[in-house]
Amino acid sequence: MKLPHLEWVNQDSPYLRQHQQGFRLLQFDDELEQAFKLYHADLLLRRMRWALLVATLIALVFVLVDALNLPDPLRGQILSVRIGVIQPVLLLAWLATYRRGLRQHLQLIGGIASLLCGLAVASIIGLARHHHFALPYEGIILVTVFFYFMVNLRFTTAVLCGWLVFVAYVAVEVATGLTADLLVSNALFLGLANIIGSVGCYSLEHAARQNFIAHGLLQELAEKDFLTGLLNRRAFSERAERSWRQAQREKQALGVVMMDVDFFKRYNDHYGHAAGDEALRLIAKVIGEHARRPLDCAARYGGEEFVGIWYGLSEAQLLVILEGIRSGIEALGLNHAYSDAAGVVTVSLGLAYLTPQSHQGLGEALRLADVALYLAKEQGRNRVMAKRQEGEAK
Ligand code: GH3
Ligand code: MG
Ligand code: MG
Repeated sequence: MKLPHLEWVNQDSPYLRQHQQGFRLLQFDDELEQAFKLYHADLLLRRMRWALLVATLIALVFVLVDALNLPDPLRGQILSVRIGVIQPVLLLAWLATYRRGLRQHLQLIGGIASLLCGLAVASIIGLARHHHFALPYEGIILVTVFFYFMVNLRFTTAVLCGWLVFVAYVAVEVATGLTADLLVSNALFLGLANIIGSVGCYSLEHAARQNFIAHGLLQELAEKDFLTGLLNRRAFSERAERSWRQAQREKQALGVVMMDVDFFKRYNDHYGHAAGDEALRLIAKVIGEHARRPLDCAARYGGEEFVGIWYGLSEAQLLVILEGIRSGIEALGLNHAYSDAAGVVTVSLGLAYLTPQSHQGLGEALRLADVALYLAKEQGRNRVMAKRQEGEAK
């Protein structure tokens, strides 16, 4: 699939890598595979609910038809399979879609339900043959097509169910003595239904994976800075607002931090823009590694400025993190012969440490962090300066 604007996606994006590698074997790299399973489980949930409802209705129609048409004692035997096995299996699987705790097992539940229904239909055909009653065998094809295309099972699960039911059907027909020519013809049709189902199911899963990748790439285009892979400014605002409101509710302290590369104009002028870009990428990596908890986040604010927010730490803990960023960037050892701060590329960091009050907005904290950054620059750069809100405890 050709997707537009990929040149604006961060080159380290796992979605981009997977898109370029392809996934003919319906398998992503580990990290994405886990995420895809969750994404697919959500699709499966919605499709499976409907599919099971439709299947229950169809199965009920067959209960009625059989109750009216079948002779005794075959009627009793077949109805006991329909009412005693198929209906409860469908009902239980349907109920399972409403249990949160079972969400991650829906693939298995859907697979087992499909398999049990397939086996039950095979046994119904066997019972009819045993009583020399001409019950159409096509029901088994209906079941097969149903779980390949309606339930939205993943390829491997569907194929496994399909062929197990095929084997069970052939075994039943052999055991009840169906003539060879009819057996070959029926098995051929059921086999072909399985092949069509397998190919169709492969395409469905491939398309679901393509959608997942396209969705991921779009999200990265919208939220991530293309050069560094950190959040962009807009996405930062959104996340930071969320952390801000949570800190207000829970009366937790926040560290809002502005970071700016020292003498970066000179670096660009002397080492070239490409080297400057590479330096920004490496700097961003160090910053990102220090903001990994769910309510922390770091972003490229613009140019060679970065911004970060850290949730619920003491000022001393924060200063350890920020010192880690400062020294980590210094330790990259990117030669900068034209910096007055050090012989290598360094950053200055300004920390605003505060517990958000109800009348305050994030903008105020960013301004305070900017003042702290200005102080860090003024006092020689390559350092962390903190501004605490009046009355804020350490
Ligand atoms: P200071 O220590 O006071 O921050 O000095 P500075 O030279 O870093 O400050 P200034 O804001 O004047 O310079 C920022 C420079 O950052 C300007 C530009 O050359 C460079 N820059 C901004 N964005 C990018 C970028 O995306 N890539 C590269 N390579 N350079 C950038
Ligand atoms: Mg700047
Ligand atoms: Mg600068």
